[in-house]
Amino acid sequence: MGSGVKVVDSNKIVSRVDGLPQASPIIDPFGRAVTYLRVSVTDRCDFRCVYCMSENMSFLPKRDVLSLEELDRVCSAFVEKGVRRLRLTGGEPLVRKNIMSLVRSLSRHMETGALQELTLTTNGSQLSRFSKELYECGVRRINVSLDTLNDQKFKTITRWGELSKVMAGIESALAAGLKIKINMVALKNENDHEIVPILKWCHERDMDLTLIETMPLGEIDEDRTDQYLPLSQVRSRLEESFTLQDIPYKTGGPARYVEIKETGGRLGFITPLTHNFCESCNRVRLTCTGTLYLCLGQDDAADLRAPLRASSGNDLLNQAIDEAITRKPKGHDFIIERDKRTPSVGRHMSVTGG
Ligand code: SAM
Ligand code: SF4
Repeated sequence: MGSGVKVVDSNKIVSRVDGLPQASPIIDPFGRAVTYLRVSVTDRCDFRCVYCMSENMSFLPKRDVLSLEELDRVCSAFVEKGVRRLRLTGGEPLVRKNIMSLVRSLSRHMETGALQELTLTTNGSQLSRFSKELYECGVRRINVSLDTLNDQKFKTITRWGELSKVMAGIESALAAGLKIKINMVALKNENDHEIVPILKWCHERDMDLTLIETMPLGEIDEDRTDQYLPLSQVRSRLEESFTLQDIPYKTGGPARYVEIKETGGRLGFITPLTHNFCESCNRVRLTCTGTLYLCLGQDDAADLRAPLRASSGNDLLNQAIDEAITRKPKGHDFIIERDKRTPSVGRHMSVTGG
């Protein structure tokens, strides 16, 4: 499909292709327009990354999880309220049964021009099966998480994953025409020596790379202070070998980008702990049970499942969304300290969606 959407900059659309007026975005109490919805379509995953989950996880019972039709209803209500970008995540979004029916159904909002972007974050394990169909549904960019190019290390970090499958998935996505951004969580003494090789590998394939600091979300089996590597340090080290130029490039997310002169490619930094990015936060997060989190780093949330299931119309749902946005907090209070063994936020990243 061709979306036919006219884009002025990454956050504004000048017109819808069907001629209908564009909804104006919802504005939170701090004047930030909420234009970005991340949806965790499942809390389940075929990997058990050491920074994300414990090896033995108990997942949500199916009855608590929104059906694909219900997820469509909530997403569509947000689109009607001016959300321009939708990112499906998880857990692993591509392990949810029939997930492509949701992607296909949501792609109708791309066709009208109401939605500017439909995308997903994936571990890549299932991409070989879905790349082509994703492209057919109007998906143009995806994020693939990859923390190492070494088979053995990949097993150590993901516990259950197989690097060769992810590599095949990445190849299939590139062949289908999808732009890929690789997300790499920087882990001290684990994959820091691979940052430069992965950077070069990405840029040779015309893929952006974003480095992410570990965030203190959910109990895991390890001590997070052992994993935490401040990206300010990484940047200084990179500057010894490369020329990094700050650029205003934005993807709607919190990453700050530089261009690497030597490779001509882009490198993003997501630094929730060394640099507070909340002032430009444009997003809210929906879990697969219909809980709306107003901030990744805060526990305050709104239940959208009850109003959604209470009637077939969207009045109650819309009211609940409006009320929730009035509670969007100014920012998060992430902190990783050696004497503080409990996470800042109790839920795992796989619940809220990264
Ligand atoms: N399963 C998919 C994947 O791995 O891409 C989507 C969900 S995953 C929770 C989304 C992103 O969050 C991944 O890039 C992952 O590396 C990152 N992530 C998970 N736990 C994290 C943590 N505690 N701190 C920082 N990033 C984390
Ligand atoms: Fe699964 Fe993604 Fe979490 Fe890894 S980071 S365990 S792939 S949800």
